Amino acid sequence: MSSDDLYVLYRGPLASCNYDCPYCPFAKRVDPPELLRADRADLERFLGWVRETTDRRLSVLFTPWGEGLTRSWYRDAIVELSHLPHVARVAIQTNLAARTTWLSDANPQVAALWATYHPGQVTPERFLSRCSALSEAGIRYSVGVVGLPDHYAPALALRAALPSDVYLWVNAADGHVYTAEEERRWTALDPRFGDSVRPHLSLGRPCHAGETAISVIGDGTVRRCHFIPAPIGNLYDGTWRAALRPRACSNAMCDCHIGYVHLKPLKLRDVYGDGLLERIPTGWPS
Ligand code: SF4
Ligand code: SF4
Repeated sequence: MSSDDLYVLYRGPLASCNYDCPYCPFAKRVDPPELLRADRADLERFLGWVRETTDRRLSVLFTPWGEGLTRSWYRDAIVELSHLPHVARVAIQTNLAARTTWLSDANPQVAALWATYHPGQVTPERFLSRCSALSEAGIRYSVGVVGLPDHYAPALALRAALPSDVYLWVNAADGHVYTAEEERRWTALDPRFGDSVRPHLSLGRPCHAGETAISVIGDGTVRRCHFIPAPIGNLYDGTWRAALRPRACSNAMCDCHIGYVHLKPLKLRDVYGDGLLERIPTGWPS
């Protein structure tokens, strides 16, 4: 990490998804055409900001509410940003339902995917064929599951089928309290499950969010992170620059990976290094 690094999480208005996960409010949601047009226009504007902001080394993670890679504008954005010299990483959270051949136009040193496996929505064969295609194309990606009891057997099978150099993460399921035995077996699948299994007490603790990491929504509103609603500036009027400074967390807890990776006492930037946004620990599988 260098002093001009800035991590940017971007989330536009898009909230539709082709999958129907029982644990998700965006399941099978359809966005009206005007919302899709707005999402595309907002993303274009964001791309313009990235192109012009050459004095920072930018790492961008798209965290759509729904699925972005079924939309051409997210695919095109990843391809374009991956070729910009001041962009260190561009990644997206995806269910990996869409074909990935478009990534052949991207720079594999920069483009990456955070892929989530949703058992019940896709066959293991189909999901694994997507993973194989990414491996063959030399694209960096992590694969993960929500740690629900029903997901354990599919996750075990997935781990066994994936190449060992592909990191498989497990997210603790919202509201689920894990027994010691459950924690042990999920940790055997993902040695970093301990980061996720319980929320982190964060109130008053220093966090990189708002200093070297920001969250941006479609209209350019900048927040420290996705979890603290108070805006700290806007991307498009330049006020984001003056807003960046060391800060302590104002929430009681931080329980989402894309948040607590920035919580300074956890030192997770040391764990993930260049793989921070796509969730691949440095040197995995060592
Ligand atoms: S794939 Fe993701 S966004 Fe889509 S329904 Fe499942 S959890 Fe929700
Ligand atoms: S600890 Fe989490 S909630 Fe608090 S500022 Fe950091 S990312 Fe946001």
